[in-house]
Amino acid sequence: MAEKILFKYIDYPDQHKIDVYMKNGGYTALSKALKEFKPEELVEMVKKTNLRGRGGAGFPAGVKWSFLPKGINKPTYLIINADESEPGTFKDRQLMEYDPHQMIEGTIITSYAINCHTAFVYIRGEFTYCAEQTEKAINEAREKGFIGKNILGSGFDLDIHIFRGGGAYICGEETSLMESIEGWRAMSRQKPPFPAVEGLWGCPTIINNVETISNIPHIVNNGADWFASIGTEKSTGTKIYCLSGHINRPGNYELEMGVTLRELIYEYGGGIIDDKPLKAVIPGGSSVPILKADEIDINMDFESLAEKGSMLGSAGVIVMHDGACMVAALQKLTKFYEHESCGKCSPCREGTNWMDKILKRMLNGEGKPEDVDLLFDVAKNIMGNTVCPLGDAAAMPVMSFIEKFRDEFENLCNGGKPKGTIKFPFR
Ligand code: SF4
Repeated sequence: MAEKILFKYIDYPDQHKIDVYMKNGGYTALSKALKEFKPEELVEMVKKTNLRGRGGAGFPAGVKWSFLPKGINKPTYLIINADESEPGTFKDRQLMEYDPHQMIEGTIITSYAINCHTAFVYIRGEFTYCAEQTEKAINEAREKGFIGKNILGSGFDLDIHIFRGGGAYICGEETSLMESIEGWRAMSRQKPPFPAVEGLWGCPTIINNVETISNIPHIVNNGADWFASIGTEKSTGTKIYCLSGHINRPGNYELEMGVTLRELIYEYGGGIIDDKPLKAVIPGGSSVPILKADEIDINMDFESLAEKGSMLGSAGVIVMHDGACMVAALQKLTKFYEHESCGKCSPCREGTNWMDKILKRMLNGEGKPEDVDLLFDVAKNIMGNTVCPLGDAAAMPVMSFIEKFRDEFENLCNGGKPKGTIKFPFR
């Protein structure tokens, strides 16, 4: 297993302070990037690593940067997406609270690479401590001359601003996030145009996740080949997996891409609480299709999970033992998406509400046998028919829960009692 990259110094006392960060090698990559590389060389370097976005979509970061239009008379913006609103995901928060300079150094290098002079860190509204830690770190970096005018004598200028999010799931979706920064209610924009072409205030904009950007200083220090040699061929580097639910040792684990789900649960997570049998795992945050207990011999990377019909997503791994009622668990998830729907498009606005009502009546013993197919049908009609990915995020769990655990839904709709406790496994 490769050494830790992002969490190498996470437990060091005061690693969030710039002097400690620098003592542990921090900001050497910035100096190297500014002195030894032209911006376009950095874009090529990151492309070569095949570093894929850690926020959920998994799009290669360097390729995204290369989509920026050339020779237009408009500023380019960089936004670090620190909204982290996918249930089951809590890695970016830890990176910002304990080692924020890693992300800031990555932000400065990325800004230089894409010719951006104003960057934003969009932090989820509820993350007060994160925002405080990041703000202190930005101020420290500014005092050292790493942010501001003529950084390290390079002639490159940059300012970084923190923007506190509106505290809604939709704020993490990139077009809604930009609406929010512009001062509007966070509602999605139709794509295309994509943000790299027409983003913040109509200008080219790159949006990257905290974990993605935190990798950049390490890539500059160690080279593209080093990074590409870690993980699998197409899913390079390490990944921070967030383990929660019915697990003995919940928490964040930075491991090489491709670790198996079984290793993650039983070796790193210490197994299931009370030694109960495993029933199901959501492998990539609440929106991705669920896996059954007999599907955990799978590599936790983008391709392997897609082959199994699920997704790596944000790597929020939610573990459920056999005491969990799948109908109740799904109702909790569906309620979340119903609450978070911005209401712009009817399949999502009406569909999430409808699915929640069907699930509640099942749990209340009022379900009808035809409700299982009806629920599946509503989800299927949301899928692919909405403006932003929230619609799919709400539909995918419903369809996969029914596909994998249909007997539990039918049991409830035919007068049976819920299997397991009606308790979603967040502790
Ligand atoms: Fe809003 Fe849902 Fe439509 Fe997204 S899919 S734009 S959240 S209504």
